[in-house]
Amino acid sequence: MIAGLIFLFGLVIGSFLNVVIDRLPHGDNIIWKPSHCDFCKKHLRWFELVPVLSFLFQGGVCRRCSARLSWQYPVMEIVTGVGFVLLSLHVDVLSPMFLAAIAIYSLFLVIFVIDLKHQIIPDSTLLLLLSVLLLVGVPLSAAERIPHIISGLGAGAFFFLLWLVTRGRGLGFGDVKLVVLIGLFLGYPETVFALYIAFLTGAIAGVILMITKHAKMKSRIAFGPFLILGTLSAYVWGDKLWQWWLGLFV
Ligand SMILES: [Zn+2]
Repeated sequence: MIAGLIFLFGLVIGSFLNVVIDRLPHGDNIIWKPSHCDFCKKHLRWFELVPVLSFLFQGGVCRRCSARLSWQYPVMEIVTGVGFVLLSLHVDVLSPMFLAAIAIYSLFLVIFVIDLKHQIIPDSTLLLLLSVLLLVGVPLSAAERIPHIISGLGAGAFFFLLWLVTRGRGLGFGDVKLVVLIGLFLGYPETVFALYIAFLTGAIAGVILMITKHAKMKSRIAFGPFLILGTLSAYVWGDKLWQWWLGLFV
């Protein structure tokens, strides 16, 4: 019952995140502007804004101009809904930590898709993420905070060097700022796992894209989505990875 409600809540938030993703890179007003079809510019009615269902009932096309609607809409809504349910299994839904958890997760999703589509990470998303992380850090003791602060600064310094060496061709400066926040969020050793998974999956994706000729050696692939993939994996499986790693030396 509760899981169902949280899933529906996630669908609605996911629908809002789609609006943020579409409008933030263009500087459009996120709240005070009615949603419209990207192709025929007609304003959408309320029943065309129902998450997932409207996409299914319309067969994935605009009701007026029949333009194909992006898969981003239902996929984002479902990923948000499922993510919220998974978070609710680990964090007490009635605690402020749950709000922080869904805010952090939502911001990671927004950064993931905007970076994938536009190869930028808007500063506003990073500042919001930083604010939430600082709030989460308030109740922690100094001893609990230190590994997170060192991870953030360490990951940031490492990426800043990479950015200097590759002269911004391999990585964007947005990635440097993002890893500082990832370090703050995950602490040690999870940050190391996150970066490792990001480089590994990024390299695999790069090779696949090159083989399928979608990308040449020089073309840039956004690295943010891989960093976020690594972060979520490290957050979920960090403990198991750490046990496995330690087990190698016993
Ligand atoms: Zn249309």
